[in-house]
Amino acid sequence: VRSRNEGGGEIRQERFDFLPDEKEEEGELEASWTSYWQAQRGALDQDLDQLCERALTCEECGLRATCTQVVFGEGDPDSELMFVGEAPGADEDREGRPFVGRAGRLLDRILEACQLHRGSVYITNVVKCRPPGNRTPRPDERDSCFPFLRAQVRLIRPRIIVSLGAAATKSLIHPEAMITRMRGTWQKWAGVPVMPTFHPAALLRDPNKKAPTWRDMQEVMKALEGND
Ligand code: SF4
Repeated sequence: VRSRNEGGGEIRQERFDFLPDEKEEEGELEASWTSYWQAQRGALDQDLDQLCERALTCEECGLRATCTQVVFGEGDPDSELMFVGEAPGADEDREGRPFVGRAGRLLDRILEACQLHRGSVYITNVVKCRPPGNRTPRPDERDSCFPFLRAQVRLIRPRIIVSLGAAATKSLIHPEAMITRMRGTWQKWAGVPVMPTFHPAALLRDPNKKAPTWRDMQEVMKALEGND
């Protein structure tokens, strides 16, 4: 796999050679992230704004050529809770914000029911540019974009990540993960506890998924409160 670093030089490596072992202790994990990011992108950003600027000019994969704009993510950079979806859709691509449109409004309502709001959590996607026709991002596109998500997690340091839907859960936890089986069970990614649950768009299609999603969110809130 070839990729281009910040200085324009080309580095050759397997993309995931630098992926940290998820069982590593936090210090080692940080060091692995640092190596991974530097190898992938050439420099380590100090804050989310720098990282966002880098993402906004990214052309690492072909998705940037067909989308309107990069949708980096939004919310509280110090949040304890991070939501990760699959990729921007048409509304997100137009507005440059994650989870707007019908599914986004439902996510807002879920947050309100948990006595949270957009400004108190951080919301992003695995892939930052909209795939044409809302198709599922290809593995190579996801791999290209993964360093941004890892860097977001490194900078935000959430206590809990909620993976929204099958695609995000497959990306974070395991390629064969089935959301219907895995939702509601604690997983771990990059040293952070992950609660997989249904994507809000799935709730719009099937209201029967609302109750289990609510149970999953209650688990999340319980875990957050329990660790205070
Ligand atoms: S999807 Fe990610 S890696 Fe691809 S161009 Fe957009 S920001 Fe860059």
